[in-house]
Parts: sequence; structure tokens; C-alpha cells
Amino acid sequence: MPDPVPTDRHHVVVVGAGFGGLQTVHDLAGAPVRITVVDRRNHHLFQPLLYQVATASLATSEIAWPIRHLLRRRREVTTLLATVVGVDTAERRVLLDDGATLTYDTLVIATGARHAYFGHDDWEPFAPGLKTLEDATTIRRRILRAFEQAEREPDPERRRALLTFVVIGGGPTGVELAGTIAELARLTLVDDFRNFDARTTRVILIEAGPRVLPAFTEDLSRYAQRALEKLGVEVRLGQPVTDCTAAGVACGDEWIAASTMVWAAGVQASPAAEWVGVATDRAGRALVEPDLTVPGHPEIFIIGDAATIAGPDGQPVPGIAPAAKQQGQHVAAEIRARLAGKGSGKPFRYRHAGSLATIGKRKAVIDFGRFKLRGAIAWWIWGLAHIYFLIGVRNRLSVALSWLWNYMRDQRGSRLITQGATASASDPRPPQGTSG
Ligand SMILES: Cc1cc2nc3c(=O)[nH]c(=O)nc-3n(C[C@H](O)[C@H](O)[C@H](O)COP(=O)(O)OP(=O)(O)OC[C@H]3O[C@@H](n4cnc5c(N)ncnc54)[C@H](O)[C@@H]3O)c2cc1C
Repeated sequence: MPDPVPTDRHHVVVVGAGFGGLQTVHDLAGAPVRITVVDRRNHHLFQPLLYQVATASLATSEIAWPIRHLLRRRREVTTLLATVVGVDTAERRVLLDDGATLTYDTLVIATGARHAYFGHDDWEPFAPGLKTLEDATTIRRRILRAFEQAEREPDPERRRALLTFVVIGGGPTGVELAGTIAELARLTLVDDFRNFDARTTRVILIEAGPRVLPAFTEDLSRYAQRALEKLGVEVRLGQPVTDCTAAGVACGDEWIAASTMVWAAGVQASPAAEWVGVATDRAGRALVEPDLTVPGHPEIFIIGDAATIAGPDGQPVPGIAPAAKQQGQHVAAEIRARLAGKGSGKPFRYRHAGSLATIGKRKAVIDFGRFKLRGAIAWWIWGLAHIYFLIGVRNRLSVALSWLWNYMRDQRGSRLITQGATASASDPRPPQGTSG
């Protein structure tokens, strides 16, 4: 066991080891603090590639790393696997779900967000969202099991429903999912079944707004839609989903019979704002001060997807990984400045590096402001950027190899149904699991 760090050091508690929390810890290296990191999961997750686990392209271990391992060389950092359920701001204590508490001098809350069903939480069992490894393996299992069931289904109508996949929400995740499911059916699985032609698979992308990828410029949105349609995806715009059951979804006047639906339509922040009694926007994100602290509590920061703050253009800073990381850097710099007696309260300034989204395995759109790109070159840049941001040489090599193999051979290495293999695919609540 390494020498203990003096307990009288300034104690920073970081709740959440996602992009924002981990960056804070990273940038506090060498500062005169001791740090406790609390996360309810034992792994840091690279969410931008979750859809590739859900569509059988990557294994779970390629996009997630044990937090404890990532921080093993930082002897001033203690990692705890625990769920935070509240904060006692008067006593400066974090409350854990097992009744234990943790005192802090500075608290950084970076607990992220989950998907939101706009008042229709009862739809979740039928159309799971994509946020965790469990979500990804649940979706993967449902997709693969639907094909397996279709192979055994004699009734053509029922088989058609089994081979209909509906993705709800036309943002980057929805577009990426729809394009990849279409490729899975038309390229990867095309030779694998005897009782149906996998190319007859329907993939329907439903977006309530007027265009897919609304955060991108209109021409890039149009390009993405055309690219999806070339892959065989049916894009429905301007119609919200009005009902969702185990048998399908209602969209406008149409009922779409489907056995597999995926929700990619909205986010709800974690309840961090509730814990500290601060006002929120409609998505539950804490309205923090310009320096990312909680009003009246300069010792508490809320960052990343759990908070909202205006960017230089007056619009809310987007809920993306680079924004969370920049906020983590800002908080670490603030803590250092305070401890050095250099004053604090410097406002956070967001620098938008650009937006990227991929449509299947050969096309992507990139918006770097003045510089926009689409097509195959954009896809290569997207791929290199994501490999660069993965943690560890082994994962970079492994993901690069999986992609190269998929690129050349249309094969996906993670097509295993490993949990709940005996349950019915239409079961709205198959067992959850994260293997593979
Ligand atoms: C499917 C998907 C695709 C995405 N694609 C992209 C993309 O291509 N590019 C991009 O830039 N961004 C993308 N994002 C968004 C990006 O992942 C988020 O903006 C980013 O993760 C936010 O970082 P964060 O630190 O705020 O929260 P997170 O990274 O979500 O981390 C939150 C952490 O808090 C922990 N936690 C939550 N509640 C508790 C609790 N009560 N107690 C203890 N621990 C808790 C969680 O376990 C988690 O580890 C995507 C998100 C999703 C879901």
C-alpha cells in the first residue's frame, strides 16, 4: 500500500467519472489536494461509440475502462464505487445510497444525463434508450434476436414486423444507429439466413422536427438524409411518435408494426440540481453561475451534461464530450487558483471545436464552422478523431482493427447473444447484461 496522503489536505470530492469528472481529476494532478472520486459504475464509458456496441461492431471492453485502473498511479486519488443520492450543503457532505456520507471542501458534480421520454416513461421498456453498456447490449440482443426469430417465423406479416426496426430521434445517435442497422442487415447478415432475404429488412428513422441532424447546417442535414436513404433507411420527418407498445409505434396517422424500437430522442439531466437546490432548465440541467459554481455555494461546481450555461453565441453550451472536458479543465484551474490564493470566479469560456456525425461505415458529416466536409474523407477524419480520443494503445489498435475488418469485409465481430437467449424478442423487459 502506498504512503497515505495527509488527511488535512483540501478534500475534493468528484461525483461521476465521465468526461467532465475524469478531466477535473486529470487536471488536478500535482495540486495540494486529496481527491475522492465516486461513481455508481466501475468504468468510464466512451459514449460516442456506444451505438457500435448496440449494432454488434465493437465489444463492450473496447469502449470502457475501469476507473480504478485509470487512476491507479494517482496516490492522492481514492476511487469509490457508490451511488450518490443527495448533498447536505450545510454540513458539506455527500450522501450515498447505503446511508454512508463523505465530507468535502470542494464538490464537483459531473453526473451527466439520461434519455428522456417527454412524459411517456411507459415507452421505455419497448424503446430503450442508449446511454450505458447495459442499454447497448440490451439493444444488440433485441436486434440480433429479432433476426433469429424471423428465421423461424412462418407468418409473413409477423416476420415483416420482426424485420422492421424503428429508431426514434434524428440527432447524431439516431442517424448513426439507423445507418448501421441498415448496413448490418444488408451487408453483414445478407448470407446468414435461409428463410428470408435480410435485404428486405426495414429500418425507419422518425424525427419530429423538419430535418435530421438539426444541429448541423441544412445542406449537411440534407446530405445525411440522402445517404441514409441510399442505405435503405426510410426517413420520416415532422411527425412525432404518439404511441409506443411492444407491437410497434404510432407516428402521425400511421401505425408501424415493429418488434425492435430504439429511443434516441431526448435527454434529461441527472438530479444533481435537486441535490443542491438550484433552478434548472426544462431538461433538468442545473443553472450554474458563469464560473460553473452553484449560486450561493462557491464550493460546489456542477459541470457537463448535468448543468447548462450559455456559450459565446448566447446559446446553451452543447451536451457533448468536449464541452464536459473543457468544463473539467476550468474547474481544476479554479480550484488550483483558489488554493494558491489567486482569487477565483473566472467565467468559463466554451470553445466549440466542431460537430461530427457518421452515417454508416463510409460516410460522415463534419462541421468545423467555416470548414465543412462530407462523404468518405469526413468518415476517415471521424474515425481517426474517435480513435485518438479512446484511452489506451490496446483499445485504439483493437478498435482500428475491428473497423478496418468491417470496412473491408462487412463483418462485425460482436454478434453474440449472450444474455436472455431463451426469452422472447418481443418481451418488453428481457434480462439486462453487459457481457462481450
Ligand atoms: C449514445 C451517445 C452518443 C454520444 N455521442 C457523442 C459524440 O459523438 N460526440 C460527443 O462529443 N458527445 C457525444 N455524446 C455526449 C457525451 O457522451 C456527453 O456529453 C458526455 O458524456 C457528458 O459528460 P459528463 O461528464 O457530463 O457525463 P457522463 O460522461 O455521462 O458521466 C457521468 C458519470 O456519472 C456517473 N453517475 C451518474 N449518476 C451518479 C450517481 N447518482 N452517483 C454516482 N455516480 C453517478 C455515471 O455512472 C457516469 O460515469 C453522446 C452521448 C450518448 C449517450
